[in-house]
Amino acid sequence: MIETDLFKSIIVLATGSLLGSFLNVVIYRLPREKSIVYPGSKCPSCNNVIAWYDNLPVLSWLLLGGKCRYCKNPIHFRYPAVELLTGILFLLTYAVFGIGWQWMFLAYFVCLLVVITWIDIDFMLIFNSLTYPGIAVGFIYSYINNNLQQSVLGSIIGTVLFYLIAKISLLVMKKEGMGMGDVTLVALIGAWLGLNDLIGSLMISFFLGSVIGIMLLLKKGKSEHFPFGPSLTLAALITLLTKNYLVTWYISKFL
Ligand SMILES: [Zn+2]
Repeated sequence: MIETDLFKSIIVLATGSLLGSFLNVVIYRLPREKSIVYPGSKCPSCNNVIAWYDNLPVLSWLLLGGKCRYCKNPIHFRYPAVELLTGILFLLTYAVFGIGWQWMFLAYFVCLLVVITWIDIDFMLIFNSLTYPGIAVGFIYSYINNNLQQSVLGSIIGTVLFYLIAKISLLVMKKEGMGMGDVTLVALIGAWLGLNDLIGSLMISFFLGSVIGIMLLLKKGKSEHFPFGPSLTLAALITLLTKNYLVTWYISKFL
């Protein structure tokens, strides 16, 4: 943790929440093949254009009591949740890395992970239009950070590993357990974290995936197909923000 400044923290939180509002648009429109820049935000129920004062992150949702100003239909809790989540992730990234060029890059990475997570939850899809540019920017980030070798290795080894897992699970279970979207997502995470931290991150993601699988099994009484992307993205964020502390601690303690 570095010394954080209250004024800077508020600016960072507000910036993250405002961007989170834009991420909501991307999450909604990208899988529906709609333009993400035009038109402005509309209520999905009544199609009325939402004025800027009704579109302030989190605040407007609270002031309007979670309802559209015009048709009074509820606005899903998820919209302010994504805004707040993005703001908090920006703040945590600032607390760990400080403000600078590194933070700007990581803010982009965090936004990508938020969008990928929610689209995967909704549609079980991970778009190449998100992962491919993300991998390229990840290499640039690692190059500036003097970590390019780790980054390329992480990306390649992650891809090969998950490609094999996808193929084997297809052979064994006769259905798609892990999709090609998960393969490109691991390539993305590898490009940003580098090989060492990718391994730590994958260990956490398998743990999270098992916990989610067991919880769904207990809740529904049968095994359920669920996206693996969110386990990968959450694990990547934990590894990034703790600088891989969890796994290094675990290894030093128990192995
Ligand atoms: Zn409405």
